[in-house]
Amino acid sequence: MNRFSAARFLVSAAAPAQFPADVGHEVAFAGRSNAGKSSALNAIVGHRGLARTSKAPGRTRLLNFFELAPLRRLVDLPGYGYASAPQAEKRTWPALIDALRARASLQGLFLIVDSRRGLTDADEGLLEWVSPAQRVHVLLSKSDKLSRSAAVLVLRESTGRLTGRATAQLFSALKGTGIGDAQETLAAWLG
Ligand code: GDP
Repeated sequence: MNRFSAARFLVSAAAPAQFPADVGHEVAFAGRSNAGKSSALNAIVGHRGLARTSKAPGRTRLLNFFELAPLRRLVDLPGYGYASAPQAEKRTWPALIDALRARASLQGLFLIVDSRRGLTDADEGLLEWVSPAQRVHVLLSKSDKLSRSAAVLVLRESTGRLTGRATAQLFSALKGTGIGDAQETLAAWLG
């Protein structure tokens, strides 16, 4: 049985006041829209429908908190890469993610990057967003779409570009590649 099978949705937060109490440990999931974040999250947690895998770009940006175990949470950040967010939201968004980063519970960030695309500037921006004490683990997603040799090359290039700022691994929600490794990292961070 998957160790996260007790996972349940906690709350969607549009403002820091709606965040769960800052106790325990949590890990955030982020990535460009369509990078495969929802699929990765569902595969790692072992719940098909936990994070929605199809969504309209520009939908209201909320932070979705899930509880994996008592005082152990996962925070799903909205996908980035579409510039269609409403103006009012553009003002409130920085405060929302700054408040997330400031949480003592936030152990680190899983960054989902399409392995065919590699790290984008927006991905690099998130690497700079985390506090020094927070770790980053990059999932090079949809690796089933690459040949074995191309996948190895992408992993090597990404690891080189990350220069110790983050760890990286190949991942495929479709084929199950790397799910065990991702679960190990997540469990270790959650403590
Ligand atoms: P999100 O926008 O980052 O949450 O991405 P989704 O999880 O919704 O996936 C975006 C698209 O990529 C969907 O069409 C998925 O079916 C597809 N996808 C996600 N993961 C994989 C994977 O491991 N392999 C392949 N081939 N396609 C995937």
